[in-house]
Amino acid sequence: MPFYRRTLKEKGVTPDDIQSLADLTKLPFTSKLDFRDNYPFGLMAVSMEQVVRIHSSSGTTGKPIIAPYTQHDIDIWAEVMARTLTSAGTTENDVLQNAYGYGLFTGGLGFHHGAELLGATVIPTSTGNTKRQILMIQDLGTTVITCTPSYAITLHEAAREMGVDLRDSTLRLGIHGAEPWSEKMRADIEDRLGIIAINVYGLTEVIGPGVSVECPYKCGMHIWEDHFLAEVINPETGEQLPYGEEGELVITTLTKEAQPVIRFRTRDIISLNPEPCECGRTMVRMSRLTGRSDDMLIVRGVNVFPSQIESVLLEVEGVEPHYLIIVDRQHAFKTDELEIWVEVSDEVFSDEMGKMENLEKRLRSEMDSVLGIAARIKLVEPRTIARAEGKAKRVVDRSEL
Ligand code: ADP
Ligand code: ZN
Repeated sequence: MPFYRRTLKEKGVTPDDIQSLADLTKLPFTSKLDFRDNYPFGLMAVSMEQVVRIHSSSGTTGKPIIAPYTQHDIDIWAEVMARTLTSAGTTENDVLQNAYGYGLFTGGLGFHHGAELLGATVIPTSTGNTKRQILMIQDLGTTVITCTPSYAITLHEAAREMGVDLRDSTLRLGIHGAEPWSEKMRADIEDRLGIIAINVYGLTEVIGPGVSVECPYKCGMHIWEDHFLAEVINPETGEQLPYGEEGELVITTLTKEAQPVIRFRTRDIISLNPEPCECGRTMVRMSRLTGRSDDMLIVRGVNVFPSQIESVLLEVEGVEPHYLIIVDRQHAFKTDELEIWVEVSDEVFSDEMGKMENLEKRLRSEMDSVLGIAARIKLVEPRTIARAEGKAKRVVDRSEL
């Protein structure tokens, strides 16, 4: 593999240097930029005949990330996904409606393989066609829904418009991830759909979904360490941090064939907890993501993560879980003005103006105390912020408005 041969040589690392886990820090990092610079197959470690599938994600900027799989990779993926679903509480008796997008995106097929291996009944609805999703839940007796957290909210809204209360349906469990969400959002989804909502994590560069997931104790996501070795580093210095400290998650794949990664910098900010869990699993747990080191906004010198803003918003009554954070990308996320558009509930909107004004004032002061900076709040009418079918877009550039 030309890429790793070159970077290891540059670092002067030879196979003899790697004797124990502690030697991991001698290895160079791999970044998203390396994927882009070596697009499309520079990180591939097998010949194309051995590749049975290629997935791709949009990537943060420019060229997409290309993810090739051998048959063995697909088998491992199915296994970690079956484990993921089991940890979340799914069994072979469940009817699982998979509303993650099928296609190039890893979400749809990743969940599909795992659910079939587990022996659950899979309904591969993919995302979108929301009314049909509601019909399927009702008519086919869906018990587990898998989709992004924002799409779970969209499902609830569509059901409400159809006069359907999902709390009365057979749904009992939701497995949500692929985008940032908060504890508040979890409570909201659980309440609206009448389910238990479980957090799941993964990324295309590593395998797709199936890197880690919560157990029913909801106290961090167990990382499948027999396949994915996790470290946390200081994103500024690259120095490895001890368990418990917050930093950037770095993953080394141990079993991948087609495109293994060495010390891949995920840009996701988390902390690791090695304590055995009450569920009996001993694999290390990662915390909910507090943000991405590259999604971070810098407002007048203060670091702000969209997830912090979401937590504040969902704390306040009369606010819907639909919002937009407006930035000036010209200045590379450094902005003097933080503007947040927030959708209000029908009830607040139809009330006399006083309620809107109070809400705005309340949000402004809450943001101020949680973020440590002032934000401009713009309350918008119900149903005016575009609904996502896949990943929600929360941060937009002013020029896109
Ligand atoms: P996937 O196909 O699994 O969504 P992508 O490569 O498109 O993979 O996106 C991966 C990124 O999505 C992660 O690096 C992380 O930033 C975000 N993500 C995935 N799962 C979660 C989650 N449960 N909570 C927060 N962010 C998540
Ligand atoms: Zn556990």
